Amino acid sequence: MLKIIQLLVLNDNYIYLIHDEISGETAVVDPALAEPVIDYLAKQGWPLKYVLNTHHHLDHVEGNTALKQRTGCTVVAGQTDAHRIPDFDIGVSEGDALFLGQHKIKVMITPGHTTGHVVYYFEKDDLLFCGDTLFVMGCGRLFEGTPEQMYASLQKLKALPAETKVYCAHEYTQANGKFALSVESDNQVLQDKLQRVAELRRNNLSTVPSTIAEEIATNPFFRTESLSIQKNLDLVGAEQVDIFTALRKRKDVF
Ligand code: ZN
Ligand code: FE
Repeated sequence: MLKIIQLLVLNDNYIYLIHDEISGETAVVDPALAEPVIDYLAKQGWPLKYVLNTHHHLDHVEGNTALKQRTGCTVVAGQTDAHRIPDFDIGVSEGDALFLGQHKIKVMITPGHTTGHVVYYFEKDDLLFCGDTLFVMGCGRLFEGTPEQMYASLQKLKALPAETKVYCAHEYTQANGKFALSVESDNQVLQDKLQRVAELRRNNLSTVPSTIAEEIATNPFFRTESLSIQKNLDLVGAEQVDIFTALRKRKDVF
């Protein structure tokens, strides 16, 4: 069994610790800061095997250097980001595999938010650590990639098994949900989800993880087939990628 620990830092960043109880191995995904991770590891007495970075933005890598100094861990990131990841050790590409104990971690490249963005997928465990590519009811901004790239990246994630748990890097759910409702107000599943999300946030609880099934039912960036969304954008029957592009543009100024 894998234990997943979620640390909320810098207002809305999630750092994930993934611990395999059988082997005792631990990985951390996107350490925005080192201290909370070092504290947690010390409290549990866990050594750190890997830092897994999804992309080079500071709020995902700033803990790399101190974590490597203090734990001797190996820093993993997309191969094309080798030059801009602090303390980079291992570069990964599409289809590469890593192991945490016996648990296989599959790498998928998902350019769009940045050109070198990767996600880490624990295939047998149905866990996806997707950084800033996919958010609950949203997706990352296109800082470096094209809409075509981001659309293709999201399609890969959408094709994962429905029960896959989606661990994204930010608590952006409520704001994303407001946008989702603005483009698809007649989606009953979305309305119900927004009520559950509001309740969680009132109690200062996390809305992450969701699942691929929930995203397919509520995330507008997964729902370019929706007639209601198409009508809203005045793009009925348009190419899916063009609907995605229009949605992303509208969200940028929402
Ligand atoms: Zn980012
Ligand atoms: Fe981020």
